[in-house]
Parts: sequence; structure tokens; C-alpha cells
Amino acid sequence: AVPVVAIVGRPNVGKSTLVNRILGRREAVVEDIPGVTRDRVSYDANWIGRRFTVVDTGGWEPDAKGLQQAVAAQAELAMRTADAIVLVVDATVGATATDEAVARVLRRSKTPVILAANKIDSERAEAEAATLWSLGLGEPHPVSAAHGRGAGDLLDVILEVL
Ligand code: GDP
Ligand code: MG
Repeated sequence: AVPVVAIVGRPNVGKSTLVNRILGRREAVVEDIPGVTRDRVSYDANWIGRRFTVVDTGGWEPDAKGLQQAVAAQAELAMRTADAIVLVVDATVGATATDEAVARVLRRSKTPVILAANKIDSERAEAEAATLWSLGLGEPHPVSAAHGRGAGDLLDVILEVL
């Protein structure tokens, strides 16, 4: 079977942008307004001849009260259904309470978890990724989903665990 990679994280961190970067085409909906991705959506992806399915999660309303629970539920679902999980964090913001809540869930995952420190658009911004070691999910991998910076390295790391 084709392995499944789930992209999880709170709204607006760049999950859909990263999915499009992985696909090499604009298929996942990117919005400036948080919570726009309504459902989990699966796409066929390919990286250096390896096929896999990438799942864009984010089917919740941007309701602050239910947000931590909703993101944690996405992570639980990913742990049950995916072969690898990519937690996307906005490194320019740093770890929020919601990021910490989802990280707490993912720390007990038997499915490999890769931490993507997104929105690292320049070399100068790279130091910001290091603060995300605090999430307890290992090395933060700096990436700019929007510009492609670090995307190849991140994909290599993903394929290593599949
Ligand atoms: P999602 O809610 O997690 O799916 O986030 P989106 O992919 O919809 O992106 C949310 C916002 O962040 C959009 O305005 C994107 O253009 C922006 N964004 C995503 N990735 C990057 C990035 O690498 N750098 C910067 N500067 N902005 C980004
Ligand atoms: Mg989205």
C-alpha cells in the first residue's frame, strides 16, 4: 500500500501551503483566514520516485475555545491512520499553547513525528527554529513552504521514516 503522511498543526501555520509545496502544484486551499480547510483531504504525491499520500488536516472552525481539543483530535486521528506525521509550527510566532497541546499528544505517538519549523523564509530567520526544541519532538526542521526553502531536506527526512 502507498504510505500516508499526515500534515497536522493549528490553523494558519502553513499546512496547506506545505502540502502544495510537496505536491509541486496548488491543489490544497491556502487562505489568510484561519480554519479554511474544512476536511481532511488526501493527495497523491511523489518525491524522487517514491509515491505516498499526503493528508492536509484542518477541518475545524477557528473557535478559540475548541481549538486545542480540535487540533489534538486531528493528531490522534493521524496517529491511528498515518505512517508518518508532520507537525507544522509557525517558527516566526514560536510555540503557542495550542502547539504545546498537540505536541503533548504527539510525544506518545508510535508513528514517527517530524517537526517542521515553517515560515523560515531566510537564512537570517533560521535561529528562530531552534526555540522549537522545547516541544520535545526532536529536531525542528526549518522550512519555508511559501518559498520552497528547506523543502527538499524536509521531504528527505519524511521519506527516511516511511
Ligand atoms: P493552514 O491554515 O495551516 O493550512 O495555513 P495556510 O497554508 O492556509 O497558510 C496560512 C498563511 O500563512 C497564508 O497567508 C500563507 O501564505 C502563509 N504562509 C504559509 N507558509 C508560509 C511561509 O513559509 N512563509 C510565509 N512568510 N508565509 C507562509
Ligand atoms: Mg489549510
